[in-house]
Amino acid sequence: MLIANLNPADEIGASSWMVELDHCRLLMDAGMHPKREGRAALPLYKLLDDKDLDAIAISHCHHDHIGSLPVAMRHFRKAHVLMTELSYHLAGRVLHNSVNVMLHQREDRGISDYPLYTHDDVEENEAQFQGFKYNREIDWASFSKSRAGFPSPTLEFFDAGHALGSAGILVRGKSQSLFFTGDVCFHDQTILQAARFDGIHADVLIMETTRGNRVPQPGFTRKKEILRLTAAIQKVLSRRGSVLIPAFALGRTQELLAELALMMRAGQIPRQPVYIGGLGRVFTEIYDQRAHLTARQWPDLQLTSELQAIVLEKEELNTIKLGGGRIFLLTAGMLTECTPAHDMALRMMEDPRQAIFFVGYADPNSPGGRLKATKPGETFLFSPTAGKATRRCEVQEFDLTAHATREALLDFAGRVSPRVLLLGHGEPSSRQWFEEQLRARYPGIRILQPAPGSVVEA
Ligand SMILES: [Zn+2]
Ligand SMILES: [Zn+2]
Repeated sequence: MLIANLNPADEIGASSWMVELDHCRLLMDAGMHPKREGRAALPLYKLLDDKDLDAIAISHCHHDHIGSLPVAMRHFRKAHVLMTELSYHLAGRVLHNSVNVMLHQREDRGISDYPLYTHDDVEENEAQFQGFKYNREIDWASFSKSRAGFPSPTLEFFDAGHALGSAGILVRGKSQSLFFTGDVCFHDQTILQAARFDGIHADVLIMETTRGNRVPQPGFTRKKEILRLTAAIQKVLSRRGSVLIPAFALGRTQELLAELALMMRAGQIPRQPVYIGGLGRVFTEIYDQRAHLTARQWPDLQLTSELQAIVLEKEELNTIKLGGGRIFLLTAGMLTECTPAHDMALRMMEDPRQAIFFVGYADPNSPGGRLKATKPGETFLFSPTAGKATRRCEVQEFDLTAHATREALLDFAGRVSPRVLLLGHGEPSSRQWFEEQLRARYPGIRILQPAPGSVVEA
C-alpha cells in the first residue's frame, strides 16, 4: 500500500493522509493548519490533482482534522464523505464557524485568500456527508462503477474517546490492513470514556504523537489535578475575582462544564452562571442530545439544564463586570487574536484579582503561550493587535488533556504490533521521542516519519 502525508508542515499542523490500497484511494482527514494563513494552511491536495479518490473519511470534528473538507471535496468531486454518526451532527456547524472566522480575518487582517469556502459550499457539502455508527464495516470503494468486479476495501470507525464523535479508522484490504489513531485518549475524561481500541491488529499503524514531548510529572493523576483546579477556583471566587478558562468549543468546553457542574453539585463552588461562547453552547446542546449514543460517564448529567450556561455576547465582552466572581469558558484555548478569550484575557491581565487558567496546550508563539511564560509584574508583547501588556493577574496551568499519554501510546503500538509504524500529528521533538522509544522497545517494527508531501510504500 502507498501512504502520502499531506500535512503541509513538519509539526502538528493539518492532519491529512492518503492511502492507496487494492487500486482504491482513501483520504483520511482534511484538516486545516491552525497557525498558518490562507492557502498555506491547506493540506497538499495539489500533489493528488491528477488522481481520483474513492472516499474521504474524517476522524473527528476539530479544525485541524476537518477544517479544509470543503476544499478537499472540490478537489475530489467523486469521493464519498464518511464520518461517525456523532461527527455528522457536528461537522456542518464546525465548517460554518470556520467560514465566519475566515470572513472576519479577511476583514480585520486583509487576508485576501479568505474565505477558502463559503456558507453555500458548506450547505452543499453537508448534503453529501454520510454518518456511520462505530464498529460497522463500510465498503468505501464499492460506489465507483469503474471498479465493478473488484471487492472494495472496508473501513471501520473505533471510538477514540477524545471528543464527541472522535474515531480511529481501521482500513482492511484484500491482504493488508491499516489503522489510523486520529487523536486518541486512553483515559476516561469527565464525560467521555476512554478509547475503545481493543483487539486492533494492523499491518500498518499511523499514530498521533501530540504528547511525545511531555515529560510525565511524578505522582500525577487527573483526579488530583481536578482537586487542584477546584481549590484554585474557590480561591479566586472568594476574593471576588473572575476566572477565565480558555478552551476549544468542542470537547474541552463540555468536559469543563461537566466538572463545574459536579463542583456545584458537591457544594464546592456556589451555584452560579457560567459564561460560554455561542459555538460552545451549540456543541453543549449536541453533547446533551446525543448522550444516549455516547460512551460516557454521568449519562444523566444534562449540561444545559444542570448549569446556567449563558452565552457571552460580543458587546458584553468589554462591559461585563469582573468584580463579582464570574466564570468564563471561552475560545480559543491559545488566546488566538480575534477571539473572545483573547479580548477577555487582555481585560483581566493587569488586575491581580483575576485569574486565567489554562487547561490545554498553548503554542509558545501564541498569545496564550507568551502569557504563560511571563512572570507577574513583567511587561510583554501579548499579541500584534493588543500590543504590550503587563501581567498582574494569576496564571496557572492544569493538565486536563484529551490526548493519550506517551506511555499509553507506546503500549498501544505494542498491542497493534504493526509491520510499519508512521509517526504523525506531533512536533518534531515529540515524534523523535517516539521513534527512539519504539525502536528500543519493538526492534521488529519499521518506524517512519514521512516528511510533508512524501509518499511511502508500506
Ligand atoms: Zn482533536
Ligand atoms: Zn488534532
